[in-house]
Amino acid sequence: MENFMNLYKMIPKVDQILDNEIIKKLLEENSKNLIMESIHEELNSIRNNISNGCDEKVILNYIENLAKNIEKNLLNKKRLNLRKVINASGVVIHTNLGRSVLTNEILENIKDVSVGYSNLEYDLQKGERGSRYSHLTEIIKKITGAEDCMVVNNNAAAVMLILSTMAKGRNVITSRSELVEIGGSFRIPDVCRESGAELKEVGTTNKTHLSDYENAIDENTAALFKVHQSNFKILGFTESVTSTELKDLKEKYNIPIIEDLGSGVLIDLSKYGLGHEPTVQECISNGVDVVSFSGDKLLGGVQAGIIVGKKEFIEKMKKNQLTRALRVDKFTLSALEVVFSYYIDEELAISKIPTLNMLTIKIEELYNKAERFIDYLGENKEFSYEIIDIDSEVGAGSLPTQKLPSKAVKVISNSYTENELEEKLRNHNIPIVARIYKGNLIFDVRTIFENEFSIIKDALDSLIGE
Ligand SMILES: *Cc1c(COP(=O)(O)O)cnc(C)c1O
Repeated sequence: MENFMNLYKMIPKVDQILDNEIIKKLLEENSKNLIMESIHEELNSIRNNISNGCDEKVILNYIENLAKNIEKNLLNKKRLNLRKVINASGVVIHTNLGRSVLTNEILENIKDVSVGYSNLEYDLQKGERGSRYSHLTEIIKKITGAEDCMVVNNNAAAVMLILSTMAKGRNVITSRSELVEIGGSFRIPDVCRESGAELKEVGTTNKTHLSDYENAIDENTAALFKVHQSNFKILGFTESVTSTELKDLKEKYNIPIIEDLGSGVLIDLSKYGLGHEPTVQECISNGVDVVSFSGDKLLGGVQAGIIVGKKEFIEKMKKNQLTRALRVDKFTLSALEVVFSYYIDEELAISKIPTLNMLTIKIEELYNKAERFIDYLGENKEFSYEIIDIDSEVGAGSLPTQKLPSKAVKVISNSYTENELEEKLRNHNIPIVARIYKGNLIFDVRTIFENEFSIIKDALDSLIGE
C-alpha cells in the first residue's frame, strides 16, 4: 500500500511538466490547449495504471519518459485520419485503399485550377456562363467514338441517372445473370427501383437467350439493360446475349440499349497478357446507345461515373434534376481531363497511368524490383528476406479470375510472428498494408512504389531489438 502511494507521489505536477525542454519546444509550435489535453490524458493514464496495479517498473519507466509520451500523444492528436498508406497487398485497384493512384502531373493540374479561380463554368471565348461538363466533351468523344458524354459522381450515380432519365415509370429488361451486387451496397435491382424504373428480369442465372429478351418486350419497355458481371464469373454451361446480338432487337423494336460496363477499360488489355475486357469503344461501335463506367477502376483516374453515348439521351440527362445532385467538382474534372489526354496515345496511357502501369508491368521487371527492394532493406540481425512467386489481383471487381503472376518479398523474422508483424506495420506512422501468405508476412512489390522502400525500411528497422 505504501509503495502504491509512493508511486502517486512520483507523478510530476503540471507546472513541472510545462517546464520540461521537450514540452517547451512543443509549446512554441502548438496550441497550448491541445498540449494541456495531451498532458492530462497521459497523467490520467499513469494514475489508472497505478490503481490497476500495473508493474512498478513499467510505471516508473513511463514517468521517466513522460515528456516523450506527451509528445507522441500530441502527434497522434494532430494526425489527420485520412492519410497515406503503403499498399503491399498486390491488389492493384484496392477499393479500401483508395482505388486508383494519381501522379504529381495530375495533381499539378488540380492545383493550378484550385489554388486560384478557374473557368469551371465560364466560356472564355464568349465571355459568358459555360458548362462544367464541356471541358471533357471533346476529348472523351474523340477517344470513345461516342456522340456525347457526361460525368457524375461515380458509376452508381451514372446508372441511377441513366435509368431515371430513360426509363422512369417504364421497364428495362435485364438478364438474371447480370443482377449484380458491387461492394456490398450497390445492387442493380435496388438502384433500378430507386431510379423509378421497373426491372424486368429475363433468362436464368446461367443462360439467357435473345428470345428471352424479345419475349419480354412490351409497349412499356424503355430499354434493354446490360450490366457487366464485374466481380464474378459464371462458368460451365452458360449462354448470354452480347450487346451486338441485342442490336437486332433494338432495330426491330426501336428500343435503346444501355450498358453498365463497370470498370470501363479504353485499351484492349489482352495485348498486354490480361484477359479481354470489352472496351468502351467496342460497346459504342457495337451499337450500345448509352454506356457508363467508373473513373477510378481500370480507367485509372479519380472517382467518377462517366456516361457516353447518343446525344439525344445525354442531353436529357443534363436536364434531369438529379444531375445537380450528382455533379462533380473541379478536382474531378481537372484530374479526368489529364487522364483522358493520355489515352490519345495508348503507350502514353500505359506509362503515365499508375493503375495501367502496375497491371502491365513485366514479370522480369517485378523480379528486378524485388531484388532492389531486398538490397535496400539491407542485412540485419532480426529479419532476412527472400523473393517468392505470388499472384497479384486486379481488384475492384475487375477481371476477378485474372491471375497476375507477381513477385513478393517474404520476411523471415527471428522474434515476431507473422501476425505481430502485420499488426505492427499496419500501425506504423505511415501504415503498411501487407499480406500473410503460407505463414509469412509478404510484400507484393507490384503495388509498392520505389520511393516507398525507405518508409518500409524505417518501419522494419524500428522493430529491430524492440
Ligand atoms: C464498380 C461497378 C459499379 C459501381 O461503380 P462506382 O464507380 O464504384 O460507383 C457499378 N456497376 C458495375 C458493373 C461495377 O463493376
